Amino acid sequence: MDAHITVLAGDGVGPEVTAEAVACLSAVAERFGHRFTFQDALIGGAAVDASGDPLPEATLTSCRASHAVLLGAVGGPAWDRHPRAQRPESGLLRLRKALGLFANLRPVTVHPALEDASPLKPEVVCGTDLMFVRELSGGLYFGEPRSYSDDAAVNTLPYTRPEVERVAKVAFDLASRRRKRLVSVDKANVLETSRLWRKVVDDLAPAYPDVAVQHAYVDSFAMALITRPRDFDVVLTENLFGDILSDEAAVLAGSLGLLPSASLGGSVGLFEPIHGSAPDIAGQDRANPIGTILSAAMLLRHGLGLEAEAAAVEGAVDAVLRSGHGTGDLQGARHPQGTRALGTRIREGIHAPVAATPR
Ligand code: NAD
Repeated sequence: MDAHITVLAGDGVGPEVTAEAVACLSAVAERFGHRFTFQDALIGGAAVDASGDPLPEATLTSCRASHAVLLGAVGGPAWDRHPRAQRPESGLLRLRKALGLFANLRPVTVHPALEDASPLKPEVVCGTDLMFVRELSGGLYFGEPRSYSDDAAVNTLPYTRPEVERVAKVAFDLASRRRKRLVSVDKANVLETSRLWRKVVDDLAPAYPDVAVQHAYVDSFAMALITRPRDFDVVLTENLFGDILSDEAAVLAGSLGLLPSASLGGSVGLFEPIHGSAPDIAGQDRANPIGTILSAAMLLRHGLGLEAEAAAVEGAVDAVLRSGHGTGDLQGARHPQGTRALGTRIREGIHAPVAATPR
């Protein structure tokens, strides 16, 4: 197939990790006979420096004209004192809103070679395979009215039935293709919004008779997530709770640098690692490119509908981790490598896959 992909490298380690992911996508195109074209565009601090705007119109136009968007990360100390509209993160929030992205998918798996990398006991984390579905465009982060003075501040947490329904359907669909278990996380004992959330999920459940639905309060779920993570499959939750819980879940995998995400809902999906711009290691060939490479795999699967190609990328990552190679953030890695060397190894695995060994 022919596909046009906008690449938003962003700030800090963003350009280093997206370079490796783009190289992997090129390897996929070569192996499977596709033609991918890549368009670089500015976002975040790099865009502020160039134009004063963290999301220039030209970037948005390029994203809208693409089949998918691959992003590195935005932000850094150089822009921390800028006014809110000129902060790198506001460019990303605007992009998600402009593309109509309402469902954020964050898979969290614990690779067998990295069970010792988590601060939790290996017997707690081994076999963990979660899919977070976080509502991305509503709730507290976008609620109006909002106001601030030094004496009082207001944020509001609104949700409508259609907003809950559309993201819940994404979660039900994923659960029915996975292990058929869905836990919906809310705070329905205190919040009216959560009562609506729970009602909408219950109303949808009969349409998915093969999916077992469970509700959990966010406070007790936060504990269950790190004490018995293997008990869960798909986790559905609203914007704020999802933001916090999915970062908590990243601890299970052993490093932030491993985890990918996909934001879906509009005609163009956005694919990015969950980590930030990691200014402390930027430009040093130390960043783990795997989160971005696995985001590229999600781009192939969810953005372009190329399942075998996505599996080829995931297989190459799996083989490299099994062989003990990894960047310095992976405590279990027997053969530490830099960003570029690890990316090259994964790319070679896409070209010449090794036979999979059973887990
Ligand atoms: P961060 O994720 O950038 O870094 C947290 C820690 O994890 C750091 O020690 C970093 O070195 C390490 N780390 C992150 N990614 C890594 C990788 N790929 N390989 C190895 N180690 C990695 O979070 P932070 O330090 O809180 O934020 C730094 C900047 O990133 C801030 O400006 C923040 O606003 C921004 N940020 C952006 C996004 C995004 O673009 N989606 C997300 C979170 C934070």
